Amino acid sequence: MDIEKIGVVGAGTMGHGIAQVSATASHEVVMRDIKQEFLDNGMKGIKRSLSKGVEKDRISEEEKEEILGRIETTLELEDLSDCDLIIEAVVEDFEIKKEVFQELDELCGPDTILASNTSTIPITKMAGITERPEKFIGMHFMNPVPKMDLVEVIRALTTSDETTDTIVSLAEEMGKEPVEVNDSPGFVSNRVLIPMINEAIYCVETGVAEVEDVDQVMKLGMNHPMGPLELGDLIGLDTVLHIMEVLYEEFNDSKYRPCPLLKKKVRAGELGRKSGKGFYDYS
Ligand code: NAD
Repeated sequence: MDIEKIGVVGAGTMGHGIAQVSATASHEVVMRDIKQEFLDNGMKGIKRSLSKGVEKDRISEEEKEEILGRIETTLELEDLSDCDLIIEAVVEDFEIKKEVFQELDELCGPDTILASNTSTIPITKMAGITERPEKFIGMHFMNPVPKMDLVEVIRALTTSDETTDTIVSLAEEMGKEPVEVNDSPGFVSNRVLIPMINEAIYCVETGVAEVEDVDQVMKLGMNHPMGPLELGDLIGLDTVLHIMEVLYEEFNDSKYRPCPLLKKKVRAGELGRKSGKGFYDYS
């Protein structure tokens, strides 16, 4: 199936990055958020990122303008009704996503593929609330979207081969490296990454090593570009905790229990970069 026009719901960290890579791959894009200021911030982020591309000679000024010219913004979900694919990147809340997908399911024609960029919500659960479970899929981009190569393509139990093939081809066209996985809590990315960060926090809590030393071991010894605690601060410790809680509840397995120090940090509002303090100080 050919994808020409792409809708993106949510203009936040992930949504505006997805809109950018979609428009860069020559697609018409309509990006929707609930407030004009969120759309404006999203567009600012896209312009900033494209301008860096111009500075680094990756694209010309003319190409930048062409890419920007392919992105429309809107506050109305109806404006996405003629899209071939809609990628949802709203906040990680099942009830909000459910409302978005139910509305989209009614607004769009039967051929439109619906995709979610969720980090943790089961794709099969979301597919099941629509009348098109075979045309529902997970398209898990990594942050920052324009820079990161991976797109985890998550098949719900109901996703058709045709939908999967279409999304894999599209991700390749966006210059990404799609990896197909089956729907399971945390998929592959968060099932491996987040417990590693949680374990690094246990090392700090139990006095095995200082924060910087835990990060150094993983950077120097395992060739990780960032240490797990730096990465936790970047992702947001509230997000790390939320994902651990989902893994713990879904698998009902104590190996996924969140570290008490992680819970304490979140309760203290020390969420990482976004709050100015996490395992490191950013103020
Ligand atoms: P964000 O908070 O930066 O952005 C979410 C945006 O959605 C906000 O601008 C908000 O106003 C908007 N929104 C809320 N309800 C809406 C609605 N009904 N219609 C349209 N827009 C609505 O969040 P984010 O970090 O971009 O995360 C978005 C999704 O991507 C989440 O499901 C998250 O789990 C997932 N994700 C995030 C990351 C990451 O590193 N941030 C990585 C991979 C996946």
